[in-house]
Amino acid sequence: MIPKDHPRYRSLVARERLARCAREGIVALEGLAAHGRGEAFDYLIGEKTTKSAALAERTAAAMLLSARHAVISVNGNTAALAAAEIAALQRVSGADVEVNLFHRTEDRIEKIAALLTDHGARVLTGTPERIVPLSHDRALSLPEGIGDADLVLVPLEDGDRCAALRAMGKAVITVDLNPLSRTARTATLTIVDEVTRAIPAIAAACSTLEPGEADRLITSLDNTYLLQAAIDEIRERLGHALE
Ligand code: ATP
Repeated sequence: MIPKDHPRYRSLVARERLARCAREGIVALEGLAAHGRGEAFDYLIGEKTTKSAALAERTAAAMLLSARHAVISVNGNTAALAAAEIAALQRVSGADVEVNLFHRTEDRIEKIAALLTDHGARVLTGTPERIVPLSHDRALSLPEGIGDADLVLVPLEDGDRCAALRAMGKAVITVDLNPLSRTARTATLTIVDEVTRAIPAIAAACSTLEPGEADRLITSLDNTYLLQAAIDEIRERLGHALE
């Protein structure tokens, strides 16, 4: 049992959850390593939502609500950390939810879909096809889901798939704590924030956008500015680290 007053409570709870989900076959062992990279960057940005990340989260809400067909693509780590948050975002945004995995087995797909469903999400089902131009199994997508989407939200993505989705003409929103990753630099919009902070912030913004705000946010979207702001935040913190 992790004591609530432990200074690293949130991080320890997340690790415990990921380890349990790895034992249950929901999270791939490689996903634990990916989480470690995320944690390191979270430490550097101060384990909080920065001003520029909050702007990115509001812009993500605007894009989700303006899309013709938005799909939230969920992998093992995202499901383990944020199943309830994904379900809540689906409710306010109307987006579809589809499971997509790099380390894909039917068993993992079913377990992740069940976890999401248990938390109130409606998960798309159907027969996947090799729709996204990739040589690995992340190509497999539902024609009526990611295949048809004009906007895909892909938390904790890898750079290849992000680039392939962009090459198909889709807008891509990612959540990635590493502002230097290929994904962060390839996405239409990158939210440099921890996934359990980012998804509820997008959902909250969906319910509070003012009239006209969505259009303004979409028109002024500048992903290079957002990435630079995250890098500046890290540099600033490092500059004062030992004071
Ligand atoms: P790329 O191919 O884009 O250069 P990568 O090889 O680092 O990235 P992965 O190994 O798939 O990609 O890692 C996923 C990314 O998700 C990492 O950049 C990591 O920083 C980020 N990440 C991991 N856990 C979280 C989390 N809980 N919240 C937000 N981002 C996270």
